[in-house]
Amino acid sequence: MKAMILERAGAPLTSAELPDPVPGPGQVLVRVAACGVCRTDLHVVDGELPDPKLPIVPGHEIVGTVIGLGAGVERFREGERIGVPWLGRTCGHCRHCLADAENLCDEPGFTGYQIDGGYAEMTVADARYCFPIRGGYSDAEAAPLLCAGLIGYRSLRMAGDDAEHIGIYGFGAAAHIVAQVARHQGRTVYAFTRPGDENAQQFARTLGAAWAGPSDAAPAAELDAAIIFAPVGALVPAALRAVRKGGTVVCGGIHMSEIPAFPYDILWGERVLRSVANLTRQDAVEFLDLAPKIPVKTSVEIFELGDANAALDSLRAGRLTGAAVLVP
Ligand code: ZN
Ligand code: ZN
Repeated sequence: MKAMILERAGAPLTSAELPDPVPGPGQVLVRVAACGVCRTDLHVVDGELPDPKLPIVPGHEIVGTVIGLGAGVERFREGERIGVPWLGRTCGHCRHCLADAENLCDEPGFTGYQIDGGYAEMTVADARYCFPIRGGYSDAEAAPLLCAGLIGYRSLRMAGDDAEHIGIYGFGAAAHIVAQVARHQGRTVYAFTRPGDENAQQFARTLGAAWAGPSDAAPAAELDAAIIFAPVGALVPAALRAVRKGGTVVCGGIHMSEIPAFPYDILWGERVLRSVANLTRQDAVEFLDLAPKIPVKTSVEIFELGDANAALDSLRAGRLTGAAVLVP
């Protein structure tokens, strides 16, 4: 099969011809129909996340068809459309797994990081961590739901059910999904983009943002919570300044540049600063059920598998509106 592989961090992906994967016990063999390009892939490729398996096939927003079943798989049938997300395996016995927080597992395996992912024509995955993909989504439209959607949904939950005025910093793939969920829940969305990025601000308004402007501007209202998706540490003090007393700032990304020093008084007043890490399977069940009911619409830009480096470059440069998706 054809695949795009990372041989060493910091290098571009290279096109490779690999043996077709064979599903082991408990695994499904998936013919990849689409794989989203997530900012986390960029962090893996750029060497900002430690110790990836190398070489690795990146990609953890995989939509495809089950074409083979390993021993013991009863969860899916051949021909079924499924999604493969970032959480590829957990240990099941650490304190976090036992406390319904498998997203924090001490011995996890992540798709496209420790486990070969979806920048390929085929992949294998542990069936227990895969999900049926329903609703009227095309394969490419469904792909961003699997990380941008899931992590975004978890970030929104962490912002608090009572947070009515929500700021979103960085209006990319996750934000464009979260904005729709937040609007559906009756919240008011304020979108912060790179200064000068009129395109992203306009895009945010079309998705129902009540206000859109540059990240260094004060929003039109005091925020109850803010979610930061952009990997920019300087946004943390900016967001703390924008939220009310008792409000929450959620960092939704896996990596961020260093957070500059800030005066204690912008955190004081019982403001909460927290991160969101990974996903639980329960997050996936809830969000993949909710998305088609809203319905969340995804905006995708399709690249051929062989153009994965161009897709990553577009994401790095902030040229995308919505999400990039690779189609083999
Ligand atoms: Zn565990
Ligand atoms: Zn991701």
